[in-house]
Amino acid sequence: MLKPIPVSVMQGLLQAEVFGSKSENPVSYISTDTRKIIYGPETLFVALSGFKVDGHAYLMQAYEQELRVFVVETLPEHLDRYPEATFLRVSSSVLALQQLAKYQREQFEKPVIAITGSNGKTIVKEWLGQLLSSKYQVAKSPKSYNSQTGVPLSVFGIEPSHQLAILEAGISRPHEMELLEDIIQPDLGIFTTIGTAHAEGFADETEKLLEKIKLFKRSKFIIYRKDQAKVKAVLQQHFPAERLVAWSDQPGSDYTLTVKKQAEGSKITLMKPDLGVYTFQTAFTDEASLENLRHVIVTALTLGMEEREISEQLPFLAAVEMRLSLKSGQKGCLLIDDTYNNDLAGLDVALEFMQNQRAKRRKILIISDLLQAGDQHSVYQQLADMLTHYQLDLVVGVGNRIPLLKSYYVGESLFYGNTKEALESLATLSLEDDLILIKGARDFAFEQIVDSLQEKLHGTVLEINLNALRNNFSFYKKRLAPSTKIMVMVKAFAYGGGATEIAHHLAQLKADYLAVAYTDEGVALRNDQIQLPIMVLNPAPESFGNLIRNKLEPVVYSCRFFAQLGAYCKSSGARLAVHLDLDTGMRRLGFAEEDLEELLHLIGKFPELEIASFYTHLAGADEALHENFSRGQAELFMQMASRISDILPDTPLRHILNSAGIIRYPEYQMDMVRLGIGLYGIEVNGLHDEALQPVSRLKTTISQIKLLKKGDTVGYGRKGMMSADGKIATIALGYADGYDRRFSNGKGQVMIHGKIASVIGNVCMDMTMVDISHLEEVQEGDEVIVYGKELPLKDQAAAIGTISYELLTNISSRVKRVYYMD
Ligand SMILES: *Cc1c(COP(=O)(O)O)cnc(C)c1O
Repeated sequence: MLKPIPVSVMQGLLQAEVFGSKSENPVSYISTDTRKIIYGPETLFVALSGFKVDGHAYLMQAYEQELRVFVVETLPEHLDRYPEATFLRVSSSVLALQQLAKYQREQFEKPVIAITGSNGKTIVKEWLGQLLSSKYQVAKSPKSYNSQTGVPLSVFGIEPSHQLAILEAGISRPHEMELLEDIIQPDLGIFTTIGTAHAEGFADETEKLLEKIKLFKRSKFIIYRKDQAKVKAVLQQHFPAERLVAWSDQPGSDYTLTVKKQAEGSKITLMKPDLGVYTFQTAFTDEASLENLRHVIVTALTLGMEEREISEQLPFLAAVEMRLSLKSGQKGCLLIDDTYNNDLAGLDVALEFMQNQRAKRRKILIISDLLQAGDQHSVYQQLADMLTHYQLDLVVGVGNRIPLLKSYYVGESLFYGNTKEALESLATLSLEDDLILIKGARDFAFEQIVDSLQEKLHGTVLEINLNALRNNFSFYKKRLAPSTKIMVMVKAFAYGGGATEIAHHLAQLKADYLAVAYTDEGVALRNDQIQLPIMVLNPAPESFGNLIRNKLEPVVYSCRFFAQLGAYCKSSGARLAVHLDLDTGMRRLGFAEEDLEELLHLIGKFPELEIASFYTHLAGADEALHENFSRGQAELFMQMASRISDILPDTPLRHILNSAGIIRYPEYQMDMVRLGIGLYGIEVNGLHDEALQPVSRLKTTISQIKLLKKGDTVGYGRKGMMSADGKIATIALGYADGYDRRFSNGKGQVMIHGKIASVIGNVCMDMTMVDISHLEEVQEGDEVIVYGKELPLKDQAAAIGTISYELLTNISSRVKRVYYMD
């Protein structure tokens, strides 16, 4: 932070009402998350009431961490339990956070650059940061902290030693940009591109555009690409020409930057306003990177960097991997691979991610020298404090500067001069069942370390995007009343995504309940430390003991089963929470109306079984066609449920909606809903495909490419036939991996280099051939997308007459799951 803030100043800034003791200690840190507080006594806690967690629930925890100053919307119930605390009560904590950020921003007298646009913001910010760091000490927002709370937190990251700050601004709704502008007050603005992303909150593209450009209200310079006609028109209409800095492929702009693609990379030729010419060389050839790169070049030129200085740095701008990915390591280890650049803010994000993974034997960090501006002693002091806070069991430092850490960090640590030495010593660390975070600056080539620790993967992987999962969860959550609980169906290995990891993230997202199909699935979750209540849809009688031992809650669907389970519990002196499945029209499992009499009798007879909920399942929730039937089911359910409730001391939860039902019949949300396929990114009604994000991407690689002649046949039964001379690629995926054999002979399509290729011949057990005659430059080893964001699963399912559910759950367990957050 730039400047400590005394409480009295804060009070005035925030127009807050003050309660509790009067503190005069200024705060030097601001936190919204008690898990991340390091310097308790000097930290202000701002209690935000977000959708996921309410900060107000953590006030006592913060107080116990020695925090004494709090910004809140509501006071804690027992103020007397916080004898030394000062509470500043405000009407909106988010607004308070923003006001404090604005105050800090106004203390910074150096240039501030702000980036907005639909795509490329984070990459442009990262590259620009790397490029400018060769000359200045640069502050920049961590990851893509660009929201109403992310921007303030980024501003608090600016330190007095910084000479320049680069911040990202992202919005999803009208009127948000004004607020961000007021905080950032950028001297220079960059507009990357306008796209369709996040269009939801806006009436149309123009409204979105007009909102975004509010970021530039007081910017001296605004950099944009003139070839984007709409952006150009809007900017020219709202800002005087002398503030606009345009670049384009074509002559007639301030900077003309033409691209020539070559065998190895591209050549970018700059023609300046004074007709000077300069040539830059880059390894990138894809359009998006070349566009982002040109934004970076123009910005650096505008800031007064020389062409030569820029050109020297370009080779170091590597593809920014904005992901933290979770990979299975050898010997049961779990690796967090963060190839993101290595500064304190980035490390904090990664350590937090680590904190949220399931517990393993030890928490180990392998880390290189930090790329962090400022006094190095204080940098490593801060690093030491952070490591102590996150309670690491072992820290392995690599590089020349990181040994500075030794003076400040008392935990177990080892140091190596370079990556090679570290690699040689890995064997001595007896890594087994450990959680290992690997975080190195690019020069240290830590991918070698990841490579040596990673479990060797068969070429096919299913990538699971945990951010998409979070997005989808919140999409459904927002459509429901705050009091409605969410049970998430993680049956069938969480629809193929991997039950443990997904359950773990759901626990963080505050799901209320989980459901699995069989007892074994529930036991596996308990063994992996999942504590949420778990409903078991179809438990077998042999598993009753396991249900009790693991605190699993079975569904009971018949009188016979009720009596059996009741007798078991009676004889073993156990009690069990159970859920009653009422059949109102699905005709699968469940009590029919005529069973109720006997059921009521059994409920009286076996008080060992506590009814936690009743539910029914809609047979046609995803089609308007069945609306009357669905409403009939709901009516019957309510009648049956109230008959049972009448004899119970407490009212159990009632729930009927699956994913499709949440969208179509929110009026029937009752006490809980059962979210399944929607969480994984598929909206079966087809009404909200835009808002959901696919969670999984199935990828494989090309094993071999063959040139064939017209009339050559391909694969078993010679079912494939080349209609002309051409080439095929054999990919490492077959029906044993879950690639359905019905995809044979042109039904299935994959994507290679962004282009479609169709299956030729029959799908084999472990391999499939695809026709790539129309694709140039494809090589063996290249990546093949089988489905994912770019190739929707729904379309693939439709091509072979099935549904997404089947394809998702069929992916074989031999396909490795890799989890990441972008
Ligand atoms: C699988 C299942 C769901 C979830 O259905 P989706 O269509 O995936 O949302 C809900 N309830 C029951 C009883 C289920 O078996």
